[in-house]
Amino acid sequence: MLTAVVGINWGDEGKGRMVDLLSEGCDVVCRYQGGNNAGHTVMNHLGKFVLNLVPCGIFHDGVMNLMGGGMVIDLEHLYGEIEGLRGRGIAISPENLRISDKAFICLPYHKLQDILEEERLADKKYGSTRRGIAPVYGDKYMKKGLRLGDLLEPDTLEQKLADILGWKNLTLQSYGAKAEVAEILAWLKKFGVPFVPYIIDASAYLEDAAAEGKRIMFEAQLGTLRDIDYGIYPMTTSSNTLAAYGPIGAGVPGLRLDHVIGVMKAFSTCVGEGPFAVEMFGDEAQALRGAGPEPEYGAATGRPRRVGGFDAVASRYGVRMQGVDELALTKLDVLSYMDKIPVCVAYEVDGERTDRFPSGDRLRKAKPVFEYLDGWKIDISGCRRPEDLPQAAAKYIRWIERAVGRPVKYVSVGPAREDYFTFG
Ligand code: GDP
Repeated sequence: MLTAVVGINWGDEGKGRMVDLLSEGCDVVCRYQGGNNAGHTVMNHLGKFVLNLVPCGIFHDGVMNLMGGGMVIDLEHLYGEIEGLRGRGIAISPENLRISDKAFICLPYHKLQDILEEERLADKKYGSTRRGIAPVYGDKYMKKGLRLGDLLEPDTLEQKLADILGWKNLTLQSYGAKAEVAEILAWLKKFGVPFVPYIIDASAYLEDAAAEGKRIMFEAQLGTLRDIDYGIYPMTTSSNTLAAYGPIGAGVPGLRLDHVIGVMKAFSTCVGEGPFAVEMFGDEAQALRGAGPEPEYGAATGRPRRVGGFDAVASRYGVRMQGVDELALTKLDVLSYMDKIPVCVAYEVDGERTDRFPSGDRLRKAKPVFEYLDGWKIDISGCRRPEDLPQAAAKYIRWIERAVGRPVKYVSVGPAREDYFTFG
């Protein structure tokens, strides 16, 4: 059984929270793209955690957590993340964590290039997390990357690195920087060698697991609208955030997903730059940003999230591109303060109304058309059954189901594992 848990919107939908909840009883949880630009927040009986690289199944005994070949891994960051988890009593070893030999290593010069390029762009910056993600994926497609599997071949590592740096330094030098073979080798020795026992052929591992009928969950990073191909390019991430990429990034492109769970927020948030038609400003934005138990700041970057009403145009697109079977609606509790809840039902582009998500300049020009639904004005964070919900809240969920054309299966009303119920 292969299930993907993916983001419908701009990211930060609460995927970590849903993977932590739904991976109980799974055999494998696999992150299949992205790197430590992710910040998946989990709150459970062990505390509050923000995971950047380690899959969110790590808190369950008996779950193998796999970092797939579609990922880019900053080994220094992974090293620190694992030390942090261990310091809080989470046991991590090759018994419950493995890394694909096909995953790419995000090296210190990738991070450096990311920072230097954002600085060069100044007010035209992309809003990068500055963690080297675009440069390492760029190098992958230039066929100038190092993979985890290269650590298993130490005899040829130095030569591979020297060849790559002969090319890479042409770029770095134009920023006034340079990467040295010896420095990178020392870094790999310090932060890469400890992971050697974790490196596996993830394809073989997953093929066997699937053949044995094991339950495998693919954990996506970011959301549809940040997908490199189908998101708000170029203000996207550099990998595929879609469910369809799950089996590819994990290592089993020949296997089909059985089930896709789309995690969608009850309103809109967006970290970083790019068109965001429903954006609120001033006091209205401040009120929504601060309404939940935890204010809206990016989990990976600490940047304030841009906020707005639920966007049916973008969410319907998100749901379709992900091939969603069922939705997990998060953060419904946050809307409890509103008298009337704004929902964007269409866009207006050049004076014409559309309910299709546009791209390019048409997206940049899109103006939201709002309707207002009744609020419920009571705290719903203690609701644990659909019957506990005020009528207006249930109506809000039904409205969303109709607007995006898929059923809501899970409703999340708080950040902790148990703050949810099954709906419908
Ligand atoms: P992810 O990257 O998709 O895992 O999402 P993030 O962790 O970046 O952001 C989601 C934030 O919302 C985290 O702070 C979660 O603790 C919090 N959260 C998730 N679900 C709910 C919910 O239903 N209600 C509230 N109030 N917070 C939630």
